[in-house]
Amino acid sequence: MQYKRVLLKLSGEALMTPEKDGIIDFDFVEKVCRQIKRCKDEGVEIAIIVGGGNIWRGKAGKSIDRTRSDHMGMLATVINSLALQTGLENIGVETRVMTALQMNQIAEPYIRNKAVHHLDNGRLVIIACGTGNPYFSTDTAAVLRAAELQTDIVLFAKNIDGVYTADPKIDPQAKKLSSIAYDDIIKNHLGVIDYTASAFGRDNNIPLVLFGLSDPENIYRVIHGEKIGTVVENN
Ligand code: UDP
Repeated sequence: MQYKRVLLKLSGEALMTPEKDGIIDFDFVEKVCRQIKRCKDEGVEIAIIVGGGNIWRGKAGKSIDRTRSDHMGMLATVINSLALQTGLENIGVETRVMTALQMNQIAEPYIRNKAVHHLDNGRLVIIACGTGNPYFSTDTAAVLRAAELQTDIVLFAKNIDGVYTADPKIDPQAKKLSSIAYDDIIKNHLGVIDYTASAFGRDNNIPLVLFGLSDPENIYRVIHGEKIGTVVENN
């Protein structure tokens, strides 16, 4: 096995229905959960951060300020986390949801040592509400929690299959990279991972692989060291 403990970040958009109507695709969630279970059954300790972009992404608008909008985004991550917990429990994976904002009737509060305890005891941990602060993203939460939980790697499962030289939706000449330094993501303004997450990953030397979730088996492949997606690390 390539890794003992991993932090898996699932983007919210990757859990959407094909019609992209903002509703969670439970058939797809089940496929994702089966791959996670395969890895867990082989002894990998797994912590998961889920985004919320399929439901709400925080930004300031005419009628809402950024902080309130981000609070709504963090709540969206709770909805996705509970959906994922359901998918995992349905196939017999013992799972705890821990939230950075307290909602004790629904989930445990995120306490680092308790999360480590769950992982040590073979439970899967889903961490919701990102960092618990507005103006941040779940990408940043993923690298932060990976540092706290001392995971061997961060896996970013997105709805794009790697880091490209430019946004492939805008530039058809954009090329997929097999590896890239955090500094080059920042310097070249590659929005696939946000600045704060990239700077944190660079400063704390967090190894990361970004890959596409369109085939959920990619989770299993990456955890077994197959070279798909893009490796992000310091030079
Ligand atoms: N969010 C936040 N603080 C965090 C993490 C997330 O305020 O630490 C909010 C923010 O509004 C963000 C939304 O939650 O837009 C959903 O998260 P994200 O956009 O990272 O989800 P993804 O793009 O991965 O689906």
